[in-house]
Amino acid sequence: MAGAVIDGKAFAEGLRARIAVAAAQFEVHAGRKAGLAVVLVGEDPASQVYVRSKGKQTVECGMASFEHRLSEDTSEHDLLALIEKLNADPAVDGILVQLPLPGHIDEQNVIATISPDKDVDGFHVVNSGRLSVGLPGFVPCTPLGCLMLLKDKLGSLSGLDAVVIGRSNIVGKPMAQLLLAESCTVTVAHSRTKDLPEVVRRADIVVAAVGRAEMVKGEWIKPGATVIDVGINRLPPLEASPKGRLVGDVDYASAIQVAGAITPVPGGVGPMTIAVLLRNTLVAAHRNAGVDFDESSL
Ligand code: NDP
Repeated sequence: MAGAVIDGKAFAEGLRARIAVAAAQFEVHAGRKAGLAVVLVGEDPASQVYVRSKGKQTVECGMASFEHRLSEDTSEHDLLALIEKLNADPAVDGILVQLPLPGHIDEQNVIATISPDKDVDGFHVVNSGRLSVGLPGFVPCTPLGCLMLLKDKLGSLSGLDAVVIGRSNIVGKPMAQLLLAESCTVTVAHSRTKDLPEVVRRADIVVAAVGRAEMVKGEWIKPGATVIDVGINRLPPLEASPKGRLVGDVDYASAIQVAGAITPVPGGVGPMTIAVLLRNTLVAAHRNAGVDFDESSL
């Protein structure tokens, strides 16, 4: 029997609806809207699409969106000055600088300049440190979204064997930390891992964040395992799909035959990322304004 499809699009819609209710309550208590500032440097078309949809969804959830579009040749000095201004602005609860940045700007300097209390992307070293020692902070949006889908599907994750494929700072490493905090036994695989299929075969939970189209095959998956596919890869254009089909890092057609449950691409992890960004912004707003809030209610 084929596995269940984990509908990230529907889950993200539900999350945004809960955020909208909580954002309206925040406005009553704080006398202002929660606010997210998004900074885009340059004209990268994919980044422009992301920034537009972040702004649109922020406003739809009843929060204030502040967009700052800077030209490609903006200096690092000017970008850092803008971030300092946003750090000091009480109307701004969350700051997101859209990556990648033009080559002449050092991304690490930019991330380090964002106040950790407004770092809703969770990329600042203070927030990765807080995650690793179990203190409240901000967790990167994509892995937190994966965790929400896993807990919604499985309930308690305690004692389960989890394999995370990929060790990037934005997905693999924070994902591993989150699963460890849920008392999973966690293995982190990467490009030097020996016999990856055998490692994956042990897992009750597989999170694939590699960036290689359809790399993880159905025959690698333990029957009944839960598979979270973070990958977004565009295949070369074909006559049937002139823009090129979007696929994940997992070979969906073979994996769904074996898995207990699996996220599709598109419609799985992708829609969760912006919804969790809005969640993190609303959490930041409550903390910054000193308004009590049950963060687990989102
Ligand atoms: P990175 O390129 O930063 O990291 C990829 C990781 O995969 C690295 O740790 C690398 O290992 C590992 N890897 C590469 N090749 C292999 C291999 N053959 N076997 C095992 N491991 C391998 O990617 P990201 O973490 O940023 O993103 C991963 C994927 O997730 C991409 O497809 C990206 O588009 C997608 N993504 C999706 C998001 C969403 O919203 N749904 C958000 C963010 C990313 P090593 O460290 O040894 O080089």
